[in-house]
Amino acid sequence: MLPLVVTALVGILLMFASGVIPSVTRLAVALAISCVLATLMFVVNWERLPKWLEVGPPLGYILVLVWIRELSPDYDLATMTVSPLLLFALFGVALHGTRSELVFVLVVVTALLWGPGLVRGIDTHDAVYKTIVTAVWSTLCLAAHAHVRALHESQDSQRRILDVLAVGVAVIREGAVVYANPRLVKLVGDPRDPLSLFQDEHRSRLSEYLGTAAAQRSPLAPFDARVRASGEALTVNVSMVPLAFDRAPAVALMLRDVSSERRVEETERQRHAVIAAERRRMNQLLECIDDGVAILDWHRDLVYANGAYKRVLGLEAVDLDGLSREALVAHLALSADDPEAFRTRFEAQDIGSNGAPMDFTLRDRVLRRITYEIGEGYVVVWRDVTAEAHQRHLLERQAVTDLLTGLPNRRAMEEVLARERARARRQGTPVCVALFDLDHFKRINDEHGHACGDEVLRRVAVVLTSEARTTDAVGRWGGEELWAVLPGPLDGATVFCERVRVAIANLAIDALPAVTISAGVAEIRPDEETAVALERADRSLYEAKRGGRNQVRTATT
Ligand code: GH3
Ligand code: MG
Ligand code: MG
Repeated sequence: MLPLVVTALVGILLMFASGVIPSVTRLAVALAISCVLATLMFVVNWERLPKWLEVGPPLGYILVLVWIRELSPDYDLATMTVSPLLLFALFGVALHGTRSELVFVLVVVTALLWGPGLVRGIDTHDAVYKTIVTAVWSTLCLAAHAHVRALHESQDSQRRILDVLAVGVAVIREGAVVYANPRLVKLVGDPRDPLSLFQDEHRSRLSEYLGTAAAQRSPLAPFDARVRASGEALTVNVSMVPLAFDRAPAVALMLRDVSSERRVEETERQRHAVIAAERRRMNQLLECIDDGVAILDWHRDLVYANGAYKRVLGLEAVDLDGLSREALVAHLALSADDPEAFRTRFEAQDIGSNGAPMDFTLRDRVLRRITYEIGEGYVVVWRDVTAEAHQRHLLERQAVTDLLTGLPNRRAMEEVLARERARARRQGTPVCVALFDLDHFKRINDEHGHACGDEVLRRVAVVLTSEARTTDAVGRWGGEELWAVLPGPLDGATVFCERVRVAIANLAIDALPAVTISAGVAEIRPDEETAVALERADRSLYEAKRGGRNQVRTATT
């Protein structure tokens, strides 16, 4: 409407300026008529006027023309034709007509404007004025037409969207539904009173909003309501928003059927609750066990760890959240005897084959790690197997140790001998073997008791151990017989046996008379069986016994 009024006023001013309306009285009359009509257009909604009423302005205008002509008979009727009032007729077509109708009317108006002048002979002054007026009016009418068309297209688009929208929309103005889209009609059946769908509580909430919407201008926060519509129990999401409809304040009510959506959400919620309960149970279970259990993701970042995990790995004071693998390894390596070796071994065997245990020996304990691959990551179990490892170590030692003397037993010594023989062969160095037998040991047992005999055996073992060089190995052969594996030449081995013999002869054991020992020593030839060399040593020992005991005899090769 504004461009219309502006155009009318501009038209009048142009006419006044160009002298077409020379009298101020006429100008005032034209202005007054323009204003009255403009106001009328404002008050009466142009869009809502019945189509036939649009002929009103031109008709009224013709009446006014007749009236002005009565007042002033010399007034140029043709000039008056282009007065602002004609504009309203023009704009009527511009706003409501088709483009070709508008062009037609423009041609007619232009013909009316120019026609009489052309017939009478046109003057320059008149031509300038008419050219300006024709150009301005044509431009404005075409612009207004384009604008209104765009507006109609936009409204049409909105209407099309509303028609297919899955949300029911009703526009309520002054308590009455003035528009309802098809979805709303489908949802509520009779769209005239959509609020009747709701139970009291929601209905009063909506009514209250309807009463105050204009004042607050903010949308009503959406909420869910259970309704019975078309004989069906539904859950609808309700929202309201204030708007202007036909220039009057109104409220759009929007109803969205969320029944299946909410059902899915509820199922989802229940499933989550079940999963959460399941997870709680699992956590409780994992908290009850003594093994440290951790779940790692594919990048081996920690996802979960139970309490025992912290305890087993000594991480009580460490924040596990965001603890990198490097930090964990560094922490563990700290308590290893050789941190660097620990780290290297950990890195090398980091993720072991599925379920294969790996033991890591730390300074004061042994940890066993078992890794299980679980598709998207790993479960790692850390078990403190210190006691188990200790027990195993004890058993292993017992298996190779003589219980009475603490010396390596026959089996362990045989292994040592095999190893030393292999080394001697490799290096081309000699290796000897010596057999020791306590002299008249039976007598000690008989005269002082078996316990005393045992004690003598233990003391003799201590002497043998302390006299041995670092490369020598001494052990118990069986009964009161001991033996030694002595890498090196025969003379060195003989010196060792001699040293042992003297040391034992000098032993003072409580009230016992001197204990003596006889020895036979032999060098093992690289190509001979161990048993053959042992036999030679044994023969030498026998010779030592026969030679009067407490002596060392060397076997000739
Ligand atoms: P010889 O000088 O000829 O070697 O005389 P011997 O008495 O030492 O030899 P004999 O073979 O007659 O006796 C060995 C004794 O050693 C018999 C056995 O009871 C005793 N004996 C063997 N093993 C043990 C043991 O573990 N503890 C004790 N106390 N005695 C043992
Ligand atoms: Mg013997
Ligand atoms: Mg003996």
